[in-house]
Amino acid sequence: MGALEKAVTSWLEKRPYLDEVTALALACESVLEGSSVIEKLPSNLDDVKEKLGQSEPLLLTDAEFKIEELASVNLLALAKLKDAEKLPAETKTQAEKLQNIALDEAKELVKEVIAGSEEKLKSLSEKSGIKQDILEYFVWISVRKTLSGIKNELEKWIADNNYTANTCPVCGRHAGTAFFKHTKRGRQRFLHCDHCGTEWTFKRIGCPYCDNIDQKKMSIKDSADETDMRVDLCHKCMSYIKTYIGEDDTGIGKEGWASIHLDILMKETGFKPKGSLIKPE
Ligand SMILES: [Zn+2]
Ligand SMILES: [Zn+2]
Repeated sequence: MGALEKAVTSWLEKRPYLDEVTALALACESVLEGSSVIEKLPSNLDDVKEKLGQSEPLLLTDAEFKIEELASVNLLALAKLKDAEKLPAETKTQAEKLQNIALDEAKELVKEVIAGSEEKLKSLSEKSGIKQDILEYFVWISVRKTLSGIKNELEKWIADNNYTANTCPVCGRHAGTAFFKHTKRGRQRFLHCDHCGTEWTFKRIGCPYCDNIDQKKMSIKDSADETDMRVDLCHKCMSYIKTYIGEDDTGIGKEGWASIHLDILMKETGFKPKGSLIKPE
């Protein structure tokens, strides 16, 4: 059993209702195990420091990640999910339809999804018969996997360049979850991008979605049977962010899918999640 699988198993023992979304996350991980990832930071990364300062997502700058080259291959490899044991039949059928997409189309798709355009997503969803939200999910899983080879190095570069804005420095999406980690500067709050997987520091107090720092317009929702997580609410922009407050460094708690039960609890409250990759039905 791999380290991730072990961590997931122990997380699930206490949260058996998460079975289905976890099965998908794990199956993707296992299908893409050993696939090609970016191994070196782009050689021209330092040229775009200024853009980082202006919160321009790194993947949209001139930095040569060439992410679409490998992410497209990884995307099409997800067709292998059709043979994954634990997935619902419908998900397997959807994954199998990735075979209807050509490599060139997949490259374009990755590029456009990162740039926030829906055009290619719509047309390829129609052409392939894959539902748009599932196709988008597959794209982000591939992007995230492709970046995993430089994740630590890239996060260090981002931190060294003092990035502290509220959107993901790599892909530009809003954070999906937050967590706390001990660093040289003490216990710091980090934001986690549910889309590309990047993590970066953010001020301890304040809403990560709007400019609200007024604590009177914020509150915290704890749950007695979920002591590792809490939900931070902003009454100004009416959003919430799930925050992992546990000490376990295996990282599962900060994954959006690992606490989808909290999103279900939040559904009727009027507060909305802002950066989740998976939305509860
Ligand atoms: Zn991101
Ligand atoms: Zn807010």
